[in-house]
Amino acid sequence: MASSGMARKIDSLGRIVLPAEMRKQLDIGVGDLVDISVEGRHFVLEKVEQHCVFCGAAEGLREHQTKLICAPCVKELSLPSGD
Ligand SMILES: [Zn+2]
Repeated sequence: MASSGMARKIDSLGRIVLPAEMRKQLDIGVGDLVDISVEGRHFVLEKVEQHCVFCGAAEGLREHQTKLICAPCVKELSLPSGD
C-alpha cells in the first residue's frame, strides 16, 4: 500500500479527519457509514452502501424501525410518510 503523503494526527478520542479529496474520490459524505477493519498493519475503511431492504434501491431511503426502505416501497406498503 503506497503512502499518500497525507499524514493525519489522531486526537485524544482516537479520531482522525479523512482528507476531503479522498472522501470525494470515494463519494463519502456526511452521515455515510464506513466499515473499519484491520489487515495486517493497515486500517481499511470501506463505505457501507445502504439499500432498501425490499428492492435494493439506494435513493430516497428512510428508516423504519431500524430498516431502510425507499419511497416507492413505503408507498406500496402504505406506511405513514412521516413528512
Ligand atoms: Zn424499495
